[in-house]
Amino acid sequence: MADKLLGLYIHVPFCIRKCAYCDFYSVPYNPDAMTAYARALAAQIRRAKPYAHGRKADTVYFGGGTPSLLSESDAALIISALRETFDITRDAEITLETNPGTVNSASLSAFHSAGVNRLSIGMQSASDAELKLLSRIHTREDFENTYLLARMEGFDNISFDIMYALPWQSEERLAYTVSYALELSPEHISFYGLKLEMGTPFGINPEIAAHIPDEDTQVAMYTKSAESFERRGYKQYEISNFAKAGRESRHNLKYWRSMDFLGFGPGAHSFIDGRLFSYKKDIKLFLGTENDTILTEQSNTPTKSELETQYVMMAFRTSYGVDTDDWGKRFGGNFALKYYKKMKPFIDKGFIIQGDGSFRLSREGMLVSNYILSEILDFN
Ligand code: SF4
Repeated sequence: MADKLLGLYIHVPFCIRKCAYCDFYSVPYNPDAMTAYARALAAQIRRAKPYAHGRKADTVYFGGGTPSLLSESDAALIISALRETFDITRDAEITLETNPGTVNSASLSAFHSAGVNRLSIGMQSASDAELKLLSRIHTREDFENTYLLARMEGFDNISFDIMYALPWQSEERLAYTVSYALELSPEHISFYGLKLEMGTPFGINPEIAAHIPDEDTQVAMYTKSAESFERRGYKQYEISNFAKAGRESRHNLKYWRSMDFLGFGPGAHSFIDGRLFSYKKDIKLFLGTENDTILTEQSNTPTKSELETQYVMMAFRTSYGVDTDDWGKRFGGNFALKYYKKMKPFIDKGFIIQGDGSFRLSREGMLVSNYILSEILDFN
């Protein structure tokens, strides 16, 4: 059954330098530690075979951190462990998050030969001043070179990550980044607003907080950029994601549709057969597990109501919204009967759109999705 196809997530928590806004779990890169890590990952992957119950996997996602720092041999080791352990479909989407400046023709060619067929490149901005402010390791030129090399090495499915609502960012400067990205014509664009996370250099700097664009400007930035993407043939299929026809991220859709996936690496989560697993955010612990299994160390079985809440929150992120048939099969009962009264004020205001067998957020609804969800799901 198609909905039983698994997604596989591989976390590679090494970075050359910490970006000023980032609170993801990562450690400083060094090649020896990376090789030891690849071995530990391969061992963990092999030990996870029983969780698949013979199911096929149709997506693999290397995220980070900076997985594009993997050497060719380390990447090959991990990919062969995946192929030996899981029945990966011939048309599987295999994505590598790629930081500009960390790859060259040879490494891109090796990733491509190993089966990677989609790159998600961390562009973030077309302004060198903004990239410097974010403490990114690359310039706009590094980004463009990475992109062009990837095209030359045969990658025909490329996504760009772009950030907006940066400190001191004007609408004009963002518009320049957006039009620059569109000229390069990637297949997919992820478009995220900067969030100030406590414990990061940005999060503790009042001057940064004071220069984040105000709420009205952020709404204008989001709306105008989304319209630019759509004018150029990108369909919005999730609050922060836009794709050309058929180029949606199949892997990320698994998260938003509450489908099963297995994640490997410190901090990685799994959701399979209604159970959640996660690894501790501790690379030393992970490196000590070559002969041990820690996938089940922290696990819990969410209640039906927790699963339902998670399902509704995730589904409303997408332009497909809640599929009421699917919801009924999973949780029993009638979605519309259960939630209609609470959704009605938002339907009347045009924030929720009722379709044939679905309820979804309009673009205006997506702008206030947290508020709408908190009202519908009784978070108050
Ligand atoms: S490269 Fe990515 S994961 Fe690493 S510090 Fe920067 S934003 Fe965080």
